[in-house]
Amino acid sequence: MAHLRNRRAEGSIDRASGAAAAALKARAASWSLPVTEGPEGLAVTLWGAELRLIALDPGMRIEILAPEDRLVGIVREAATEIMAEVGLTVAWTALEVGALAPGLALMQVAGVRQVGANFTHLRLTGPDAARLGQGGLHVRLLLPQAGRQAIWPRVGPSGRTVWPEGADALHRPVYTVVDHGAGWLDFDIFCHPGSPTCDWAQGAPLGQQVGAIGPGGGSCPDTDRLWLFGDQTAMPAITRMLAETRGTACAVLCCDAADLGALADDPRVTRCDDLMAALEAMPDPAGGHVWFAADAARARAARSHLLARGLTKTQFTAAAYWSRAEA
Ligand SMILES: Cc1cc2nc3c(=O)[nH]c(=O)nc-3n(C[C@H](O)[C@H](O)[C@H](O)COP(=O)(O)OP(=O)(O)OC[C@H]3O[C@@H](n4cnc5c(N)ncnc54)[C@H](O)[C@@H]3O)c2cc1C
Repeated sequence: MAHLRNRRAEGSIDRASGAAAAALKARAASWSLPVTEGPEGLAVTLWGAELRLIALDPGMRIEILAPEDRLVGIVREAATEIMAEVGLTVAWTALEVGALAPGLALMQVAGVRQVGANFTHLRLTGPDAARLGQGGLHVRLLLPQAGRQAIWPRVGPSGRTVWPEGADALHRPVYTVVDHGAGWLDFDIFCHPGSPTCDWAQGAPLGQQVGAIGPGGGSCPDTDRLWLFGDQTAMPAITRMLAETRGTACAVLCCDAADLGALADDPRVTRCDDLMAALEAMPDPAGGHVWFAADAARARAARSHLLARGLTKTQFTAAAYWSRAEA
């Protein structure tokens, strides 16, 4: 369905500057975004929104057209940053200084329980649950440091989000929405040593307010044949993709057998102890999409392996879901 771009923002730059157009074109090229150029100016399409730069006499106008307010805010922030990099300031009209950062919802912890051998199941509730649960698989949680009153990121006077710093800096891990319904979102959090999120989840957070920003990240690849490989952190994403794919799927999970839950009865799923060996043993995936997620080192190795097997970059995803601490 075509997105209706019926939300908008406008700003102006008081100097006519080739630098603004050049900066926008350079960013569009580095993000592989489509650009249309005409006598009036140029337009870039990003994340389902359109960013237009229109030459005036004097100065320039910036327009953002997007299907929802969150995207307007995100694109406004990106445009502010791109222009700031070439020394230009955008004066945005109707900027809601002090509003919560674009896409941020404040939610309540409504449930925390242990599932399987190594997971904590977390339920958050709030009016934005439906928005956060669709259009992307992932959400970034915002957790204040233990004992600190939460200071939430808010829109600053320039259009950029102002994030709390120092002792008020928020922990910002990304998790997959494993399920959602009217007013609620569920997450499965893999528990590992040294995890601020797991420490928080195990510290009786019921009733607490937390931030959730998104949705973001990937979605289920649109393909007839899906090959999925992941460690425990990728289990929720693989669970979602197995439920959403329109094609046939084959998933290999590197996890404790006791963590498989309902996936243990899914004939499309097998468990392994060596994810790289499982990837290397995959038959020819021609015509399908290979999706791999684990720690950064294995994601890099997976990318090299798949390129060496002749897959093009559009035929696979190799995502770093976490990084090992430096030795
Ligand atoms: C798109 C995306 C979706 C994700 N979805 C999920 C999900 O649904 N469920 C889930 O559990 N995780 C998921 N992850 C992974 C999760 O964001 C990371 O594991 C993150 O580091 C968790 O934050 P933390 O507070 O536990 O640890 P951090 O503060 O990030 O790290 C603390 C320490 O823990 C180590 N560490 C981090 N992750 C692991 C791990 N998995 N095993 C061992 N050591 C680790 C780090 O090296 C560091 O030393 C996802 C990541 C991405 C990018």
